[in-house]
Order: sequence, then structure tokens, then C-alpha cells
Amino acid sequence: MNKKKILIFSIIGMVVVALIITGILVIKHINYTKTYEYKFNKIGYNKEEVVVLKNELKDKQLDELLNHKYDKNITRLVKEKYFIFNKLDDYLKYYKDNKDKGLTDVVAIINTNTNNDFYTNTKETDVSKNELMLINKYNYLTASYNPDDLEVFTNVYAYGENQSLRKDAYDAFIEMWNSANKDGYKLIVNSSYRSYDEQKKIYDDYSSWYGEEDADKKAARAGYSEHQTGLAVDIQSYCSQNKDFEECEEFTWLTNNAYKYGFILRYPKDKEYLTGYKYESWHYRYVGKKVSKYIHDNNITFDEYYAYFVK
Ligand SMILES: [Zn+2]
Repeated sequence: MNKKKILIFSIIGMVVVALIITGILVIKHINYTKTYEYKFNKIGYNKEEVVVLKNELKDKQLDELLNHKYDKNITRLVKEKYFIFNKLDDYLKYYKDNKDKGLTDVVAIINTNTNNDFYTNTKETDVSKNELMLINKYNYLTASYNPDDLEVFTNVYAYGENQSLRKDAYDAFIEMWNSANKDGYKLIVNSSYRSYDEQKKIYDDYSSWYGEEDADKKAARAGYSEHQTGLAVDIQSYCSQNKDFEECEEFTWLTNNAYKYGFILRYPKDKEYLTGYKYESWHYRYVGKKVSKYIHDNNITFDEYYAYFVK
């Protein structure tokens, strides 16, 4: 082979290698443009933000998010423990209008619907959720809803006649009562199941005495009382005849132990903006032991729990 030929082959060789390298780079780039890193980068997210999004969201959600305009609050929101993807727009809008609120609160408020006025955006609750059905100022029971497994308490446990709870809640209460009794405390059922008509009478009476606005502060409207579920119980003690129940040892006992029997304090202190109710140290709701433990350990309201885990 002469020198000329060698030169030609070398040049051809180099061109081929160059073409292969270019080809590889082009393919690599095309592949890169198919990645979420590239796509999110293009609409304004930085590397760290894309890592967060990919960690927290499913592919389907990432695809949907690509149609959203960049917003620096999105990555902050998806890191929130109770973030629900299909509420993203509501979170962003509410946060924009309420910049004084923290994002944790924004998520809780939107999840519990409490950005709406009480008794607006209401709907019939899903009773098939059974002991996890949600009754609050947005979710109601119809007049025809009557639990069919009510058990009546004897006077050992309750003030007055005809105090009753649904079977599971009744059994759990007796178990709790016995345990408290062993520790030297006497729990007394002060109010329990209430029918739609009974609640209606209470509300209508308040309403005629004080007007609707004040009645709404004192009592739930018919259909909106948790007592109609047969899963809620107002507890008192002999001590609370002269004191707030909150100041009684029975209350302290319940605070430490109620969750072990499936009961939760339904309207905790400082959570009115999520539950719609002022603090009630006496009102307990049966939700079953697994859920009561979660709610107790994580210090959330049932309304928040329902939005994230039940609905
Ligand atoms: Zn109550």
C-alpha cells in the first residue's frame, strides 16, 4: 500500500469514528430530552426541585404537572405529609390569597374543605365507610339514617335513660369504662346517640331563642351532628358536676388512654379551623383502634385523617 492510500483510509477511518461519536451524542441527547430532568428543567425547575418531584410523585402525576406553569411553591407543597395531588390547584390558589398561612395549614384547610363557609359545599356523607364515616359542617346524614345496631347503656354507665351507641362503639366504651374504673376513675355517658329529629328539636329551640347565627355556634344543624352516627359520646364524671370536665382527672385519663380503645377527642383545642367546632373536652368519637392510634400519635383531626386516608 502506498502512502496516499494509507492517508485516504486514515481520513475515512477518522470520519467514520467522528460520525459514530456524533451519532452517539445525538442519540444520548434525544434520550435526555425524554427525561423528566430535561422536561422540568425546561419549564423552570432546578435540579434539586426535580429530585423532590421525582421522589414524591408518580409518573402519571409528573406528566400532569408538566402542563402546569412553574411555581416555586409546588416542590414545597409536594413535600407536605398530607399533600393530595388532585388538590394542587386549590392549595396554590388558597396560598396565594392567604400568604400569612404556613403550607402545612394550607394543605390541612383545603383537605378538610374549611376554606368554604360552614354549611356550604355540603354533601351527603358516605355511610358505607361505617365507623369511619365523616360528619361535620360539610358532610351530613339524611333524616332517614338510623343505625340498626344500637345498644342501650344501663345506669351504671350513663346519666338518664336510653343512652346508646352502636354495638362496636358500645363494646369499646364498656372496655374503656372497665379499664378507667380499675384505675379508680368513673366515666359517665352524658349524651350519646341522637336521632335526626332530636337534633332538629335542639337546633330549632336554640334558633328560636337566640337566632340562627347563635344557634349555629351552640348546636349542630339536624343531619350534621356526629351524635346521629351512634359513634359519638359525651363523657362526664362526678367531678365535672362542679368543674369543667377538662379540669377533672377523668379527662386526663381519657387523654392518655381513650385511643387504646378506639376513641378520639373529636374537637381538640385550637383545631376549630379544621373541625368547625370549638374545643370540646367531653366529646369522643369511636373510629376503631387502628385509626385512633394513628390520630393520637400524629396529632391530627379526624377530618384531616378522612381526607387523606379514607376518602
Ligand atoms: Zn357531643
